[in-house]
Amino acid sequence: MSVDLVIVGAGPAGMAAAVEAAEHGLSVTVLDDQPEPGGQIYRGIERAGPELTAILGEEYEAGRELAADFRSARIDYLPNSAVWRLDAGARIAFSREGSASTVSARRVLIATGAMERPMPIPGAERPGVMGAGAAQVLLKASGLVPAGRIVLAGSGPLLLLVGCQLLDAGAEVAAVLETTAGGDYLDAAPTLPRALAGWRDLARGVAMKRRLRRAGVAFRSGVRGLAATGQSVRFDGGEIACDLLLLHEGVVPQTHLSRQAGLAHRWRPEQRHWAPVADALGRTAEETLLVAGDAGGIAGARAASLSGRVAARLAAGVDPGRLIAALDRERAMRPLLDRLFRPHTALPADEALVCRCESVTAGDIRQAVRDGAMGPNQLKAFARVGMGPCQGRMCGLAAAEVIASERGLPVEEVGSFRIRPPVKPVTLGELASMEGEAADAEAL
Ligand SMILES: Cc1cc2nc3c(=O)[nH]c(=O)nc-3n(C[C@H](O)[C@H](O)[C@H](O)COP(=O)(O)OP(=O)(O)OC[C@H]3O[C@@H](n4cnc5c(N)ncnc54)[C@H](O)[C@@H]3O)c2cc1C
Repeated sequence: MSVDLVIVGAGPAGMAAAVEAAEHGLSVTVLDDQPEPGGQIYRGIERAGPELTAILGEEYEAGRELAADFRSARIDYLPNSAVWRLDAGARIAFSREGSASTVSARRVLIATGAMERPMPIPGAERPGVMGAGAAQVLLKASGLVPAGRIVLAGSGPLLLLVGCQLLDAGAEVAAVLETTAGGDYLDAAPTLPRALAGWRDLARGVAMKRRLRRAGVAFRSGVRGLAATGQSVRFDGGEIACDLLLLHEGVVPQTHLSRQAGLAHRWRPEQRHWAPVADALGRTAEETLLVAGDAGGIAGARAASLSGRVAARLAAGVDPGRLIAALDRERAMRPLLDRLFRPHTALPADEALVCRCESVTAGDIRQAVRDGAMGPNQLKAFARVGMGPCQGRMCGLAAAEVIASERGLPVEEVGSFRIRPPVKPVTLGELASMEGEAADAEAL
């Protein structure tokens, strides 16, 4: 099968791109590993009733129209499709409902979005500790509200948003432990004039904090030395009892597919993550590969949907026109957010579990470096870090930070895991099902 455009991801970027590309007459296939469209922010939007949308807010409700447009567009949408291989020649392999297939395209749009940055603090693997985004997934997907006393720890707009949403859902939010400190505000100050273009979002951030304070939620800033015990959260100079600790220090681009496709990646020092090298419109060094949304750099849902539309127009050979200025405006807040909400738990303590798949702590990684592991790829041989089912998604950033600090080098010099297909687990049964597609199976 061959089409004009294959889009990987049905979040705001992928959905908007699909609608736009179909309007310009392209044949479009959308592959997404979720059962329904929406991505992270609009997860479950088609099923959400008024009670849930009242909790999740108008930003969430805004996804309903996009999802409806997406459903009615003339596209081939394949939910439950996990893409595990992408070649720069725009050939894709994916698994769906127990079998694997390939599809070729003139262009591929990588719109795989972001994931929550793992926070490898000591005890993070214990019951009663999870990502704030994960708690939000349970709320959006199944209407689940956690019971007991909740503490949120970390930084970023999503931390406050989840706190407010949980309050509105009737949960008991006891405290927010912010890793953001006074110095971060000073550091971010020079970016304020540019960020004023996004004053509505700034005002929203202030309002969320006020809402939490009014509800009696305790705030502490500049928190360091976070550790989870299972019944409490400890930090330098204090401890708070809780039934559930929700961790969050921002989101990072999902780069496995773009890396596996061979695209170059650039280290973003403020947010301490990697993003594919692309221009402001999402064009990469490979003419066949475009990138849009958070997969290309974190900028939020509105920017994601605009960048998806820009990419679709490029694929259709149509001038993106005024969309470019709108996209610039949406990205105006980013430098401020990047500086203000710098991650402060990127370098884990020795006892923290960094690679959960293979049970490797930060201390084990430090020992491996002393034994001669010079970078993330050697670390695989020394300590099996990044060799489990997540293929380094959860541990890659922290492992590289530990190696870099141990060797006294910048992270960009230490590098990152080399990503090979399959980027997601594939069963032998799925491979065997690739009837008539022997070349792809052999390539594995
Ligand atoms: C857990 C979480 C919760 C968030 N909640 C909010 C929120 O409430 N409000 C807010 O403003 N922002 C939120 N964000 C930020 C959010 O990611 C962006 O604002 C926005 O959703 C980005 O849109 P996108 O289209 O780029 O990516 P996404 O919305 O992330 O969509 C990407 C899609 O691609 C799919 N995908 C990824 N890899 C593959 C693959 N290999 N094969 C097939 N499919 C794949 C994903 O499952 C997903 O459906 C959240 C982020 C995370 C990680």
